[in-house]
Amino acid sequence: MDLKALIRDIPDFPKPGIIFRDITTLLRDRAGFRYTVETFESKFRDANLIPDYVIGIESRGFLFGPTLAYQFNAGFVPVRKPGKLPAAVHKIEYDLEYGTDQLEIHQDALPKDSKVVIVDDLIATGGTAKATADLLDQIGCELLGFGFVIELKGLEGRKKLPDVPMITLVEY
Ligand code: 5GP
Repeated sequence: MDLKALIRDIPDFPKPGIIFRDITTLLRDRAGFRYTVETFESKFRDANLIPDYVIGIESRGFLFGPTLAYQFNAGFVPVRKPGKLPAAVHKIEYDLEYGTDQLEIHQDALPKDSKVVIVDDLIATGGTAKATADLLDQIGCELLGFGFVIELKGLEGRKKLPDVPMITLVEY
């Protein structure tokens, strides 16, 4: 299936010069959404990535992470922007193009030595996914790999990530 045909390009969003890859048009297409979930799952299985937990990054990682977790009979754990999680958290600060941002995870979200995969809709510079991997280091779980529906190849985000498999479905 041609997933690119279902992903809408929005020029100049959120800033002039950026082409935003909009996945809402993929999600609303029932055949496209099913194909995405099932292909994601089979690529993870082919790479022998069988998680106990899927870690989803706020907010579009919450759209694909839980569906993948369901396919694997795994749990889902959210990594959220600051101040959203109610119980005690581990935090990480990371650099953006201008300034910094933070991500948080519940301290008791994962049993030690859990096998996990990190899922988001898209990898660009890799900063968000790298920060999430660093956050998981504070817990001491086993990171099996990463999954992104979309990879923006030119930004070479992959190079920033730890040396574990990375599953992607669409490249730009
Ligand atoms: P990175 O940290 O790799 O530079 O940026 C990835 C993060 O930004 C992801 O959480 C992703 O949701 C968001 N993002 C950046 N650009 C786009 C885009 O064009 N489309 C979508 N859907 N998400 C984007």
